[in-house]
Amino acid sequence: MCGIVGYIGKRDAYPIILNGLKRLEYRGYDSAGIALYDGSEIQLCKTKGKVADLEAKVSKEMPTKGNLGIGHTRWATHGIPNDVNSHPHFSNSGNLVIIHNGIIENYTSIKKELINRGYIFYSDTDTEVLVNLIEDVKKNENVKLGKAVQIALNQVVGAYAIAVYDKNKPDEIVVAKLGSPLAIGIGDDEFFIASDASPFIEFTNNAIYLEDEEMAIIRLGREINIRKIKDDSLVAPYIQELQLNLEQIEKGGYDHFMLKEIYEQPSVIQDTFRGRLLADKGIIRLGGLEDYIEKFVNADRIIIVACGTSWHAGLVAEYIFEDWARIPVEVEYASEFRYRNPVITEKDVVIAISQSGETADTLAAVKLAKEKGAFVYGICNVVGSTISRATHSGTYTHAGPEIGVASTKAFTTQITVLTMIALKLAKVKGTISQSDYMLHLRELDLIPSKVSTALDKNDSIIEIAKIFKDATNFLYLGRGYNFPVALEGALKLKEISYIHAEGYPAAEMKHGPIALIDEQMPIVVIAVNSNHYDKVVSNIQEIKSRKGKIIAVVTEGDTIVRELADYIMEVPYTPETLSPLVTTIPLQLLSYHIALMLKRNVDQPRNLAKAVTVE
Ligand code: GLU
Repeated sequence: MCGIVGYIGKRDAYPIILNGLKRLEYRGYDSAGIALYDGSEIQLCKTKGKVADLEAKVSKEMPTKGNLGIGHTRWATHGIPNDVNSHPHFSNSGNLVIIHNGIIENYTSIKKELINRGYIFYSDTDTEVLVNLIEDVKKNENVKLGKAVQIALNQVVGAYAIAVYDKNKPDEIVVAKLGSPLAIGIGDDEFFIASDASPFIEFTNNAIYLEDEEMAIIRLGREINIRKIKDDSLVAPYIQELQLNLEQIEKGGYDHFMLKEIYEQPSVIQDTFRGRLLADKGIIRLGGLEDYIEKFVNADRIIIVACGTSWHAGLVAEYIFEDWARIPVEVEYASEFRYRNPVITEKDVVIAISQSGETADTLAAVKLAKEKGAFVYGICNVVGSTISRATHSGTYTHAGPEIGVASTKAFTTQITVLTMIALKLAKVKGTISQSDYMLHLRELDLIPSKVSTALDKNDSIIEIAKIFKDATNFLYLGRGYNFPVALEGALKLKEISYIHAEGYPAAEMKHGPIALIDEQMPIVVIAVNSNHYDKVVSNIQEIKSRKGKIIAVVTEGDTIVRELADYIMEVPYTPETLSPLVTTIPLQLLSYHIALMLKRNVDQPRNLAKAVTVE
């Protein structure tokens, strides 16, 4: 995820693009860059860091004259965040310049072909491959920029919102979209391009939101020409009148980043799969894993180190890895692991999980495990982060920036990555049957739509939140794969509502927490279809006899728990192994709505910080 901005018209492009980038910085802030056409040449300036760093660099190094330009604020997916990998990217001739939000999945094969044809690559990005592919098509087919973009995009697999222009044709910008957002603001013979409308809201209320697989040729003095990328058919532009204010736009129309991130889960889980899970072909391909698969297969055990929500994702992984891949797993709080002189050998694989990739305790655990000779694998969201660099290899979650302090989409994408790793290992080790393997691949592929269905139940969760918002204690219970989900549900509620909550394995309730139960006490029970269903039903009976108020997460169509529970939150059926990916959704929403009703600062809860860079 990153932010893109462009302008063509009669005003100075620089201030519009710079301010636009500042507004889009929530989408990524690894690096920033700008390419202005000054009337004869393209002036380019880019730098690692924030838009403010770009502004400082431009003021020293670059003239800012020009009425045409594009800018980018990056959230790296391919290539570490440095100056060279920053966008915009030039084509080899220096005529074309591009900005891109998304991932070109088949960039390696295209890059190889282009190298064979003499192209040189300066960055590690997929984006530089795309701009050179466009140049190659333009030259070989002798076509205009718009046509070249279209032909090139038909060869590309992946997701993109792009803007590209040619210095020899400085009256037009070509844009295209698939999977990443792209809005075009329409002024009086001037056009704005951006990932959302925030960069141009003070200039115009009229905007076109491109649909997937559409491209537009934006030319001064002309109507916008929108076409389908696949078959070149013309699309009638649909111009919307925007009613939103700036802040609403940055949050995608949601009231809080947390809510936006909860709702992004179907698409970011898809991004986590992208190019890695080919369900119909029975393939899982994780770049960081392929070369080191033997390390995992021959490992005596896997030790997962993490903190907070990432630790809960690790607990889910313990169940999946042991179940499918038959490798013993231990899950450790990084803060304990680093100080307790653990027994680690060269036959151990350590997996470190951290959204930010900067968590101080997890980083220290990584260093310790390396010193002791273990192979260390990272699962991080932020590309180029310290942990992703400190580990021997790893997989990025590709969830896009998570701004809300309470982690939501990072959790589900971490589980998605861990599930893919476990399935891959089970396949290689032969510890899963082919039919089970294929079933889970297909089921995993269906998770984004099941998460959407779970999100559709939001209104009923609001009603439950209204009833329990004033409770002072909550208990969360789950068994098996859903025990870690109970812990995560309780953590979410604590973090943002400041209500005391505890998560427990359902059967453990009898060993203590049952003493807390009275008619005031809400107990959230995850009671979806699973091997433990009957046992959970018994646990629910036990709570009922003590008059506790039961809020149950159930599978759609459930009748037994529905009868027993006071309130239910439904999720679609999923195999038990994958169920945490859907059962966690109503718990996120419940916490959010309770916190909102209590007027808490949902995105920045008291005492907490997003990246815990101190121990
Ligand atoms: N894949 C591109 C890169 O890594 C764009 C990243 C993005 O959309 O955030 O530079």
